[in-house]
Amino acid sequence: MLNEERRPCIYCGKVRTFSNEHVFPAGLGGDDHRFLLRDLVCAVCNTETFSPLELRFSRSSPAALGRIFLQPTGRGRGKKASIPTIDTRETTVLTENFGAVEAEVTATGTPTILMQFVFDGAEGVGVTGDASIDTADFLAHIESVLTADRPLIVQKLTSEGRKQYLVSELRWNGERLVHASQEVMEKPPKLCVWRELLERGPNGEPNRRPTLFRRRAGQLVLRAPADADVLAMLTRARKAVPIVRGRPVTMTPIENPVVALSMSLHPNDYARVLAKIGVNLVAHSFGEDYVRHHAFKAVKRAILTGDRPPQLIDNSTPTDPFHGVPADRHVAMVHFQKGRAGRFHVALSIRLYGGRTTWLLLADRAIRPPALEAILVVDYTTHHIEEFNNTTQFVMAYPPSPPIEYTRQVTADRYPRLPPVSG
Ligand SMILES: [Zn+2]
Repeated sequence: MLNEERRPCIYCGKVRTFSNEHVFPAGLGGDDHRFLLRDLVCAVCNTETFSPLELRFSRSSPAALGRIFLQPTGRGRGKKASIPTIDTRETTVLTENFGAVEAEVTATGTPTILMQFVFDGAEGVGVTGDASIDTADFLAHIESVLTADRPLIVQKLTSEGRKQYLVSELRWNGERLVHASQEVMEKPPKLCVWRELLERGPNGEPNRRPTLFRRRAGQLVLRAPADADVLAMLTRARKAVPIVRGRPVTMTPIENPVVALSMSLHPNDYARVLAKIGVNLVAHSFGEDYVRHHAFKAVKRAILTGDRPPQLIDNSTPTDPFHGVPADRHVAMVHFQKGRAGRFHVALSIRLYGGRTTWLLLADRAIRPPALEAILVVDYTTHHIEEFNNTTQFVMAYPPSPPIEYTRQVTADRYPRLPPVSG
């Protein structure tokens, strides 16, 4: 809505159009419409800063692994629900015939070997892929790209944060593909081969074979070392299509596949996203006036800019208050501690995907809060959020299970050894 009252955004302090902000990120399972901050967060903070931050967090952070294995749906509900995905630099599965080959990991952590040509030695071309993928469709795609009038190879360039694309045009000289021309473009062409690098291992040799594969999202990618003869490889692929088509391949499923993932992480994202959940929860539970207090200025700045984010402290102890909450729920708790001169420390304890509980400081000179605790329990499977306003309510709903050592001790005390009976 248009900000007619001239109230500023609680994060950036600017008067701008507001947009709804999820108290708990929708992509992490918090898409519960009862938990929205309305008319508090501006559309600029929301879409330009928070959305890309949360997207990176949910697809390439330690939480991304929890998400891909445990969370069945992303944002949205029913048929519109998205399926969680993960952004990796490389995902491979080990095969008997070709060694490591291109794969993707999808919801519930299931690996799928992508349809691909594997370049073996100087001449050979092998083919592999998941049994569920349509081979004919893959071959038709390669053919349409490589037999085009001017087949295109595209390489992503990033200069000063701006994305550009180096597009090389090829042509068929009757025997093989040869280079025709090259230009830098602002937008990539639709039908092309994406060129990506196959990194070298510690001994300087690539640790697997080059491949031409198709991502589930549809892109055709050639992954080969930087000095590889790309034109020769694509020529081999073009010639291999009719041969493979005439000789159907049966894919044997791999039992207990070995999957390797490599990911680029942005270390600050983790603290920023957790801190934002904390500040949102403060706004939701203690009100607009409370969250606007200048004690929260530093943490908001850190969330917006990534500069000096709050330090994360591992708070998993045998007496972790979240022990009683099952692993299929996230838990977040804002709590207060009396500091000096009547001021309060405000901290967030949070546990995602049943992992370890993390603690971080949101503010240390806050004014007296209207209540001492606020707790959210997020069922990330159903996107249902429960709210508790004090720990008594919370502990009644999720009684902590005592740690094993404690149980042993109590049991031993309760059944003391009988003195030896003399006969
Ligand atoms: Zn803002």
